[in-house]
Amino acid sequence: MTKHCCEQMDLFSSFNCEKHNDTYECPDVLIAYTEQFHKYGIIIHDGGSSVISISYCPFCGSKLSKSGLN
Ligand SMILES: [Zn+2]
Ligand SMILES: [Zn+2]
Repeated sequence: MTKHCCEQMDLFSSFNCEKHNDTYECPDVLIAYTEQFHKYGIIIHDGGSSVISISYCPFCGSKLSKSGLN
């Protein structure tokens, strides 16, 4: 069962790493998912916690925001 739109999104948005302490430190994690707002973003690994928000899945093309508020 996938929590997100597709398996790739599941994989790249889940933090499951022993080497790093959080999502933004781990280069393997490409997508930041904010459960609270149901928002997705691409993590910019520049040492900070920059994220570019995305409305469509880069892997399968599904629309990501369910709220329809924007
Ligand atoms: Zn997808
Ligand atoms: Zn890592």
